[in-house]
Amino acid sequence: MTIFEKIIAREIPADIVHEDEVCLAFRDVQPQAPAHILIVPKNVIPRIGEATIDDQSILGHLLLTAGKIAGDLGLKDTEKEGFRLVINHGKNGGESVPHLHVHLLAGRPLTWPPG
Ligand code: AMP
Repeated sequence: MTIFEKIIAREIPADIVHEDEVCLAFRDVQPQAPAHILIVPKNVIPRIGEATIDDQSILGHLLLTAGKIAGDLGLKDTEKEGFRLVINHGKNGGESVPHLHVHLLAGRPLTWPPG
C-alpha cells in the first residue's frame, strides 16, 4: 500500500483541500512553493508512463481538478498569480512515491528551465 493510499483510506493524516469520487487533493508535507498541492487518483496508477487508454478519463479528471483547485485558491489570475502542474516519472524525473500524482505549485515566481 502506498503512502497516498493510506492518506486516501484516512490511515494517516493529511491537509485535504478537495475530494471527489475519482481523486483526493492535499497539501504536500514538504512544500516547494507557498502553495503545493498533490492531486492523487483513488485508483492506483503507478506512474504516468504506465497509464493506459483505460485511464484516460481519470487523467483528464486530474487536470480539470487541478484547474478547479487553482481557481478555488485564487491562483488563476494570469497577471498576478499563475501556477505550474508537474508529474514526475522515475529516477531522473524525481519520482519518490509510486502512485501517480499531479503537483500543483504556486505562490512564487517559478523558474524555467526547472531544476
Ligand atoms: P514525487 O517526488 O513526484 O513522487 O512526489 C512525492 C511528493 O509526496 C513529495 O513532494 C513529498 O513531499 C510528498 N509526500 C510524501 N509523503 C507525504 C505525506 N505523508 N503527505 C503529503 N505529502 C507527502
